[in-house]
Amino acid sequence: MNDQLSDRINNLATSATLAMAAKARELRAEGKDIIGLSLGEPDFNTPDFIKDAAIEAINQNYNSYTPVDGYVELKEAIITKFKRDNNLSYTLPQIVVSTGAKQSLANIASVMINAGDEVILPCPYWVSYSDIVKLSDGVPVEVTTSIDNDFKMTAEQLEAAITPKTKMIWYSSPCNPSGSVYSKEELRALADVLKKYPNIYVVSDEIYEHINFKGGHFSMAEFEDMYDRTITVNGVSKAFAMTGWRIGYIGAPDWIARACNKMQGQITSGANCIAQRAVIKALEAEPSSIKYMVDEFKERRQLILSLLSEIDGFKTNEPEGAFYVFPNISAYFGKTIKGKTINNASDFSLFLLEEALVATVTGEAFGNKDCIRISYAASQDEIKEAIKRIKTALS
Ligand code: PMP
Ligand code: GLU
Repeated sequence: MNDQLSDRINNLATSATLAMAAKARELRAEGKDIIGLSLGEPDFNTPDFIKDAAIEAINQNYNSYTPVDGYVELKEAIITKFKRDNNLSYTLPQIVVSTGAKQSLANIASVMINAGDEVILPCPYWVSYSDIVKLSDGVPVEVTTSIDNDFKMTAEQLEAAITPKTKMIWYSSPCNPSGSVYSKEELRALADVLKKYPNIYVVSDEIYEHINFKGGHFSMAEFEDMYDRTITVNGVSKAFAMTGWRIGYIGAPDWIARACNKMQGQITSGANCIAQRAVIKALEAEPSSIKYMVDEFKERRQLILSLLSEIDGFKTNEPEGAFYVFPNISAYFGKTIKGKTINNASDFSLFLLEEALVATVTGEAFGNKDCIRISYAASQDEIKEAIKRIKTALS
């Protein structure tokens, strides 16, 4: 807190995922052997064919500002991708390329939300949703889901959360942090509720689309009656192991895309030129080109689920996508282990960091006080060692 700073920044929470990753880095620099399972970041290298495209772009002197909403060739590749993978038809004015899906979300919040507008967030939700909404003076409305329903919001819960102030619903599927994937039928049930409320808009965050172990990804905008009020958010960070390249994008009704373009024109301009050229190649490639990473994530999921099942007090759903497990560890609340009392998920996550040297993220950051998030975007050896350490620290 610094009273010279704006209320806006003083009231903003620090991103818990990035804070934990920074803390793990700090401890490592002090010589501690920390295993980082906090950050949602693939541990693979960006595929060579994408790196080659970036090198070629540099050599071809792509160094100027790009159009604010992205190179036309990239927007065309995004349109083709949406058609190929999602059966969605967009035109050039409906696409905006941004500096990561995080910026896409921030753009959407700034152009759609007025002070006091409510945004329904099925809980657990991705860490930044609530603070991005609050930055635009919106009011996050958390809908608590349970592990018994695979952490998914039901139509009844949605209906009960809607008020005259509801402006939007934001969700991710596959979900960060629960790994849950909404089926077509489940989305239809939500869409049927929304039929009665034509002024509510949906943000469908599909950044984990390809990291889906069950198959059958469905986009809300595929329903004809939802197309005009759904903003489909996606990006290359996760599927193509390109977190640092910072490219995300949306497909949206053209008036919303135009507004995002206008917003971006004042705050960041177009996304990085080299990264955009490389992403053209990434999106033109068939999803089979990244199957080796998805297969490996699937193996790691089995590994971590089976190792966690050997530890008392961890109750976990079976994630169908993304690369996180979100165990309920509330059985430990009220217990004192190694002189440390655990009263909540944050205490538990801190305990694991200090006593097992394993970095995780407290569920509180995702709107759930009983769980922690463990990212398994780490090698199988690291996962085995981390869970062994956790087991030892808790025994
Ligand atoms: N949405 C979700 C659900 C995420 O997990 C992330 C993680 N980075 C993002 C959006 C933002 O992705 P990026 O800005 O790297 O494209
Ligand atoms: N989305 C990733 C995560 O949830 C990366 C960190 C971030 O962007 O907050 O860990």
